[in-house]
Amino acid sequence: MSAPSEDSQMLPTNDLFIGGDFVRGDCTAVVVRSPATDELIAEVPGASAALAARAARLNGEAARAMRATTVLKRVELVRRLAAAIRADGARLAQILTLESGKPIVESRGEVEYAASFFDNAAAAAEMASGEIPASRAADRRILVLREPVGATVAITPWNFPLAMIARKLAPALAAGCSQLVKPAEETPLAALAFARIFADAADACGMPRGAFGVVLGEPATVARAMIDEPATRKLTFTGSTEVGRLLAAQCGPRLLRTALELGGNAPFLVFADADIDRAVEQAMLTKFRFMGQTCISANRFLVERAVQERFVARLEERMQALFVGDPRDERTRIGPLVNDAAIAKVERHVADAVARGARIRFGGVRRAVGGLANRFFEPTLLVGCDATMACHCEETFGPVVAVSTFETEADAIRAANAVPHGLAGYVMTQDADRLLRVAEALEFGVVGANDGAPSTAEAPFGGRKDSGLGREGGAHGLDAYVELKYVSVRVRGA
Ligand code: NAD
Repeated sequence: MSAPSEDSQMLPTNDLFIGGDFVRGDCTAVVVRSPATDELIAEVPGASAALAARAARLNGEAARAMRATTVLKRVELVRRLAAAIRADGARLAQILTLESGKPIVESRGEVEYAASFFDNAAAAAEMASGEIPASRAADRRILVLREPVGATVAITPWNFPLAMIARKLAPALAAGCSQLVKPAEETPLAALAFARIFADAADACGMPRGAFGVVLGEPATVARAMIDEPATRKLTFTGSTEVGRLLAAQCGPRLLRTALELGGNAPFLVFADADIDRAVEQAMLTKFRFMGQTCISANRFLVERAVQERFVARLEERMQALFVGDPRDERTRIGPLVNDAAIAKVERHVADAVARGARIRFGGVRRAVGGLANRFFEPTLLVGCDATMACHCEETFGPVVAVSTFETEADAIRAANAVPHGLAGYVMTQDADRLLRVAEALEFGVVGANDGAPSTAEAPFGGRKDSGLGREGGAHGLDAYVELKYVSVRVRGA
């Protein structure tokens, strides 16, 4: 079976992008299917260990070329990329929807989100400067220089196929680094489409085409080749905690810099003094963006007992109005989950919760959507949940609101922090003192205070504990690709 013709016209070629050239893979093909229809979209020949190693070597060469460029030229490239992503936005959004099942309105949002990382990195690079700290010795000057880290490699997940590349690549290029990316096998097409955009932008401003690369293949083999290349200086990974640990162990002996953006298990605290309509609005944003398949999606709804019924009743009303359907349809808010394993996990969490005493207030089952794959799950509202249930201990990654109750602020904070993860947490309250107290007490890298959509390119995003290491975004995101060097100068006669 081949891709429908209107789809195939917008798709990139099935080539990898290595050393600035489009290159046919030499190994087993990565098969990309539509989560919505199960149709075959593309078969992209993957890279063998040898080809992946060559890509990593060329990434090292490109890092040397990038290092020799000026900040002005890097900023020009990065700004061109922002503009080119926006110019090609309609096609990129269609590709994202086709390969990930993301509702088309959200895919357009992802394209803009991706472009914003390039805007932000350009601005941060323009403003960056070294330092000359005061010296203790009259005849010494200390110059603190900012230098690029060098060749970097990135491994990205399927839930934001374009934005996760942008979040890593934009600061890498702005700082003067190269980056070789291995996208997720489920969603490699946005990365390959972006490779063409990159090649054109680099050519247009005379920058090294090899500064960005895309390799695909058997993940562990490709990752190993990228990590083992002596020129590689940094690995940046976004994905599950399990794979993050594995990669950290591989990077350890090489003392590679690592940035790990891993899984979450976000608490969403609703206090009795919250504006309940506003809390419901924010809950909808965090929970149903990409059907709950985002790392900062609220996973545990902890609601003060006095307002639980009011909160749940209004949320239920809003959930009933969510349109479940084909992700290409403008009206759709709930599309298919990414694959069979994802929907099986959601079913397991719902069944486990019910077996342990929770009650399904709304949804709870798959929904047949005419002629499409059996991968659509109803927006689901579970009440009477507790910390023993899988839906509270693990990331559900699906459209399930699992509600438990609390009595006091101290109990709420204790419950929120009682998981190994520490990516995002939410607090809904109108009491300014409580807002700050709770925001400070939450052991999470990102806190949404009356805000269910805190991700933005200008803020430092990242997790604590099992949710990872390092920050991406904002000026801190640029720093992650910078090595500091100090030059100590003795000045005769000073
Ligand atoms: P995953 O860890 O299975 O896959 C992520 C990437 O790792 C993919 O490119 C995959 O091919 C690669 N990979 C898998 N096994 C590998 C191996 N043995 N060696 C090297 N690479 C390997 O995660 P996923 O299912 O694609 O993504 C969902 C997870 O990502 C969730 O836990 C989510 O919370 C997390 N996530 C985190 C953030 C964040 O910023 N913290 C953002 C998005 C997603």
